[in-house]
Amino acid sequence: MGALFDIAIVGAGPAGSFAAELLARAGARVALFDGRPHGEPKPCGGGVTSKALRAWPHLLNAPARTVTRVEMISPSGKRLSLRLQEPFAIYSRRALDDYLRLRAERAGAETFQLRASDFTRDGKAWTVRAKSGAAVRAEFLVAADGANSSFARRLAGRIANADMEVAFGYRGPLTREPETVIAFLPGWTGYAWAFPRLDHICFGIATSQECFDHGALDDHLRRFIAAYYGSRAAAKGSVEERTPLVRYAARIPGLSAETLDRRQTAGNGWALLGDAAGFADPVTGEGIYYALRSAELLAQSLTQDAASYEQRWREDFGRELRRAAQMRRRFYGSFLGAPFSERMIELARAHRGVRRTLRELIAGDQGYVDLKPTLLRRFFWPAD
Ligand SMILES: Cc1cc2nc3c(=O)[nH]c(=O)nc-3n(C[C@H](O)[C@H](O)[C@H](O)COP(=O)(O)OP(=O)(O)OC[C@H]3O[C@@H](n4cnc5c(N)ncnc54)[C@H](O)[C@@H]3O)c2cc1C
Repeated sequence: MGALFDIAIVGAGPAGSFAAELLARAGARVALFDGRPHGEPKPCGGGVTSKALRAWPHLLNAPARTVTRVEMISPSGKRLSLRLQEPFAIYSRRALDDYLRLRAERAGAETFQLRASDFTRDGKAWTVRAKSGAAVRAEFLVAADGANSSFARRLAGRIANADMEVAFGYRGPLTREPETVIAFLPGWTGYAWAFPRLDHICFGIATSQECFDHGALDDHLRRFIAAYYGSRAAAKGSVEERTPLVRYAARIPGLSAETLDRRQTAGNGWALLGDAAGFADPVTGEGIYYALRSAELLAQSLTQDAASYEQRWREDFGRELRRAAQMRRRFYGSFLGAPFSERMIELARAHRGVRRTLRELIAGDQGYVDLKPTLLRRFFWPAD
């Protein structure tokens, strides 16, 4: 077995790679386990908000499509074309993850292209092993191995199915002028999306595990995709003929407020990041921002030693995630006799104050904690 590392990080997604970069930059000896399967990117829409791009402008050095207009469709089919103040970016996850891992390596982290399979602890050191028999010893262990994290399960307990969202979709060919679309589902919690990347379009549906009816949702998504291509010429002829849609599916954490309150994300010599910790927005499924931010907060707490990681994330974004969890049902449920998403789009079509709030919600700048008062204020004082 080789030298003792300061930190072993399991998982080279956005959370693991960014933590590896920041900790290596601060002088730590970091071992990063990259267990990504060859050829198969992490299932993800790849949408990164303008708030995240402002916080980490280097993300724009990774190849991405930047988007300044979003078509929104209400559950009853009403459309709103929303021009954004600042662009958001849509990444192929292979491109984003490769870029972040490269930065970690350049900062001095040592990567092991291995899937970690087990860990033990003796005295002060952890030993992380791969199936091949390779092993790494480190003083601190970070689980950043995603929504199905086996490391987090052993360190902090499993996340129940009721605290999980499901997302699935298809990758299809690019159209000439691809639009970015968010369509709320009629009668379902969740939404469908069309996110064009540089070389293909990612279509998907995210909904809660408890109301997941695959057949019905798949029919809905296929109709959505057919309508999308129906109104736009595919770059290379008919979709099904030339480029069959490639399917993907995965889970996203969507913790209830109670689970968030109880969830332990750090202990003596270990911590959880990103999806492994359960950090994703339960209303939208957005998790890349929280993966990166949790990495940053852990690096701060390990290198500055002032406040604990647990304390930092709860103060930083814990309240927002908690509020989102409480709002989730209402967001997709009834508001003045119709789904909230229906009313929001209806009002935004007619009202510039509501439109502005919606724009800021998509940018990641409008939180859930003060969403209602902001909507009301902007409704009556649109220029405020
Ligand atoms: C269909 C879908 C669409 C989504 N769309 C969006 C979106 O548009 N915008 C957004 O912000 N969020 C989106 N999300 C959520 C987002 O993908 C996650 O929140 C984000 O990837 C979390 O980053 P992470 O680094 O914590 O985990 P991950 O990105 O899952 O990275 C974990 C890494 O660990 C690796 N790994 C797992 N086990 C091991 C092991 N034992 N050893 C070594 N490596 C291991 C995995 O291969 C992976 O590379 C979506 C999720 C899904 C499922």
